[in-house]
Amino acid sequence: MENCVFCKIVKKEIDAYIIEESNNFLAFLDIHPHTPGHTLVIPKDHYERFLDLPINLGEEFVKIVKECSLLLSRALKTKDFTLGINEGPYAGQAVNHFHLHIMPRFKNDGGKSIHSVVFNQPKESLEEIYLVISKAKQT
Ligand code: 5GP
Ligand code: ZN
Repeated sequence: MENCVFCKIVKKEIDAYIIEESNNFLAFLDIHPHTPGHTLVIPKDHYERFLDLPINLGEEFVKIVKECSLLLSRALKTKDFTLGINEGPYAGQAVNHFHLHIMPRFKNDGGKSIHSVVFNQPKESLEEIYLVISKAKQT
């Protein structure tokens, strides 16, 4: 897609430090790393969101995420990671080309767990929310 920064990386119109590549995916270092080895995994075709990613690419996606994690693990001597997707604007997605963040984590790195991303406690009980979800499942 025109004017998409990640499509430009795929087309090699913008440079990036590419660490892994497969038929349909590319993994490269984030330009503003939040941790050493902060990596983005993207599909080569332009899909805006995780939910737009075709299901048949699922296995290849999991494979490249695992390969990147193992590579970063060997290179940076850690087995700990935060894996994350900012899905849509309310979740903080800034680049509208689907990407998964792989953030290597280290002892005392000052970061927190994924629970720190949001704390918007529901007014409804778990049962009420469960009923809403169950109804949606029937439609
Ligand atoms: P988001 O908030 O959409 O999940 O994150 C987008 C990420 O893309 C940010 O962490 C940002 O640093 C990274 N990014 C934006 N533009 C570029 C670029 O041109 N090259 C690289 N390597 N990363 C980029
Ligand atoms: Zn794109």
